[in-house]
Amino acid sequence: MNISALDVIRKKRDGNELSRAEIDFFIRGYTRGEIPDSQAAAWLMAVVLRGLTAQETACLTDAMLYSGEVLDLSALPAPKVDKHSTGGVGDKTSLVLAPLAAAGGLIVPMISGRGLGHTGGTLDKYEAIPGLSVNLPLPRFREVLETCGCAIVSATAEIAPADRKLYALRNATGTVESPFLICASIMSKKLAEGLDALVLDVKAGSGSFMKHDGDAMHVARLMVETGRRMGKKTVALVTDMDQPLGFNVGNALELVEAIAVLRGGGPEDLCDLCLALAGWMFYLGGRTSTVDLGKKLAEELIGSGRAFDKLRQMVALQGGDVKVVDDPSRLPKAQGKLEVASPKTGYVTSIRCEALGKASVLLGGGRESESDAVDPAVGIVLHKKVAQPAKAGEPLCTIHYNSQARLDRARPLIAQSFHTGDAPPEPRSILRGVMAVS
Ligand code: URA
Repeated sequence: MNISALDVIRKKRDGNELSRAEIDFFIRGYTRGEIPDSQAAAWLMAVVLRGLTAQETACLTDAMLYSGEVLDLSALPAPKVDKHSTGGVGDKTSLVLAPLAAAGGLIVPMISGRGLGHTGGTLDKYEAIPGLSVNLPLPRFREVLETCGCAIVSATAEIAPADRKLYALRNATGTVESPFLICASIMSKKLAEGLDALVLDVKAGSGSFMKHDGDAMHVARLMVETGRRMGKKTVALVTDMDQPLGFNVGNALELVEAIAVLRGGGPEDLCDLCLALAGWMFYLGGRTSTVDLGKKLAEELIGSGRAFDKLRQMVALQGGDVKVVDDPSRLPKAQGKLEVASPKTGYVTSIRCEALGKASVLLGGGRESESDAVDPAVGIVLHKKVAQPAKAGEPLCTIHYNSQARLDRARPLIAQSFHTGDAPPEPRSILRGVMAVS
């Protein structure tokens, strides 16, 4: 049977189920450059609007996974475990977890992404370190893993090339918010890493692609089910994204907080989440017999300085300037700072987290189009988080900017992001649910 790209687009547009052969044809054709961006964008939009069946989701994930190589890291004598987030605002946990888990004896071959929609990207944050490269050829990626147990790299022409192309196209075409595309994107990259176990952080709330807990649980279920189908120990933690994680939003600013956590400090919510995710990584990787003991191990590795030393080693091996890790004040800094004051006295009742993420993109911290360069220095530093008291005139946050024109676009979004009321809201835990399959 002859398959054409147009027929595949029309079939999904009309809400029909695609076969494995049709999905393979489309993904292979797009990855090889035989199907143009215009047709792939139309197909992605049809998927966003029509959804995919469980069978289609499995076929898409497989097609994207086998668009490139699947790493065989069996020669490395330790469990291979990674974690991946569905994307949030101020989420810098990957920068903490890769060195932390490697310091505890796991191998972490972390293939990460760039900023997507209003969310930040681990690669953009990590690249705030001068000299550092995330584009490691496969042999070098292996060498770094052999030497220090972790590396944070980009998808390449060899590993998950379909996601590399589709990820950028989704970002430019308003087609990020599909549970099926999110599942296939994340799981194809992660399964290409040759893992034994995977910990997923599925964000729920105003700063996530999944605004409601039910939607986040749906994505969690899709991904855990995919992990099970592929024989990987997989867990998904559904976690709060109704306000930024930590206080800093923006590439270099977020790196500062990640380094602080590895040095035994850092914001409480960020530390708590890192410990919860690390606990699961050590447990699924067989380093500890319970998740709680995994958390304890993570605390010890931070307390002893071994996790921080691992970050230094990983940065050096990826060509980055280690002096910046030792002294984060050397990171790129924005030229201008502007405080946003509270209009009244009360408590912060909610933060429009997606608006803050968009503002960070507008400041230059992310990409409005594929060719944009990212400014590592800009972003937003929160002084108040949900439930904290604020007096009229007190700063709610400080905007770090490098361009007046960009500031003018971002400022209204930021000013409207904080809501205050007379009473603090009920406290909510960072962890909203766990979905596990072993
Ligand atoms: N992270 C990814 O790698 N892909 C998505 O689609 C969303 C978050």
